Amino acid sequence: MEYDDSQTARDLRDRAREFMDEEVIPTEREYLGDGPVPSSVIEDLRAEARERDVFCPQIHEEWGGGGYEFRDVLPLFEEAGRSLLGASAMRVDAPDEGNMHTIELVGTDEQKGEYLKPLVAGDINSAFSMTEPRDGAGSDPKMLKTTAEKEGDEWVINGHKWWTTQGSEADVFIVMAKTDQEAHPYAGCSLFLVDADADGVTVERDIPHLGPSLVHATHAEITYDDVRVPESALLGVENEGFAHAQQRLGPARLTHCMRFTGMATRALTVAKAYMSEREAFDSSLADKQSQRFNVAEYETELHAVRTMVRHAAAQITAGEEARVPVSMCKVFAANTTQETIDFAVQACGGNGIGRDLPLADFYEAVRAFRIVDGADEVHKRVIARDAFEEVSDPSIDNTPTF
Ligand SMILES: Cc1cc2nc3c(=O)[nH]c(=O)nc-3n(C[C@H](O)[C@H](O)[C@H](O)COP(=O)(O)OP(=O)(O)OC[C@H]3O[C@@H](n4cnc5c(N)ncnc54)[C@H](O)[C@@H]3O)c2cc1C
Repeated sequence: MEYDDSQTARDLRDRAREFMDEEVIPTEREYLGDGPVPSSVIEDLRAEARERDVFCPQIHEEWGGGGYEFRDVLPLFEEAGRSLLGASAMRVDAPDEGNMHTIELVGTDEQKGEYLKPLVAGDINSAFSMTEPRDGAGSDPKMLKTTAEKEGDEWVINGHKWWTTQGSEADVFIVMAKTDQEAHPYAGCSLFLVDADADGVTVERDIPHLGPSLVHATHAEITYDDVRVPESALLGVENEGFAHAQQRLGPARLTHCMRFTGMATRALTVAKAYMSEREAFDSSLADKQSQRFNVAEYETELHAVRTMVRHAAAQITAGEEARVPVSMCKVFAANTTQETIDFAVQACGGNGIGRDLPLADFYEAVRAFRIVDGADEVHKRVIARDAFEEVSDPSIDNTPTF
């Protein structure tokens, strides 16, 4: 299926596809069931990605990236998602990808030199520290408890965070904290760049979690105890933290949708291959009409996701808020990819559960997608609020017609 992508996007996608087929997926096969893949292997893949001009395409050349437009990179993100190693290999991996985007968008030139450049190069790692335990920020970010108070020319940060992805390996954290205690949180929070080795930063533990065995994914619980950072650590505008987080999250949700669409597409390809070869009850599994209908439904839904994501991306590129289309993409993509991967596992029988195939890892990876970057219900809340707005607008005649 071809989409209305530019020639630049198609060329980038084709190079990414070749890279995935010739380098990444063969490497993945060596480690399936025997992960996590060592970081030296990822380094080798990154060197090859640089050679093939598919390395960090989303960041401007000035900072070491490829300098491609957001919409032109989307098909590459889908290719990257076809293996759990793809996004790291091409340096389009979360959370660094979203963090790099935030620093590029709102950081100063000094911050870009200090953090963005080495992040793009893969010399350092980063983490985004917003979610808090129990009575703090989660689905409702207004409940944020972490504070940053000005003392002289420093900010003093105090708080407790968890589920900070890559927190225990990060060199720098982007921390969301309240900077104006009186204001509504949407108008009184800020982002800070905090070095992991700053006094008062403690990674308490990596939270044990469901997840694939091929890659080493960590989610940390972290305390910030009287952490002093200079004024220059403020990322973006004071008290604009939520606005900056939204600028980050819109595109980051769409890139997540594309990566998981790639994962589900590969899962379906594996399942179709299995079903075509495997015979039962006198014909191949691929001949059974009920299974063919299942494949038809998942192919249709994945096509719908790709189309929706491109539509939302076009709105973002045009400078529109795109909050509702992004929420629609997020809910629909998370559920579609989860259901598709679940079907692929079922279609492959015992092999779907085994780790000779990538499906078991995909199955464990995809479940979190309905929770991270806003749970399903949070996005449905946004969609529903918009849907009801029209009814509550008195200028619109809402008299029902039967
Ligand atoms: C693998 C993983 C990686 C993560 N990485 C990061 C990270 O890097 N940085 C970071 O800051 N956070 C991260 N998070 C945290 C993630 O953003 C939160 O888990 C998510 O926002 C939900 O918050 P919560 O866990 O506090 O759930 P809660 O707020 O306790 O919500 C629990 C459940 O309640 C339901 N719910 C919520 N609101 C409503 C509603 N209005 N109506 C009906 N039902 C509702 C939803 O089903 C939700 O899942 C990560 C989480 C996971 C699982």
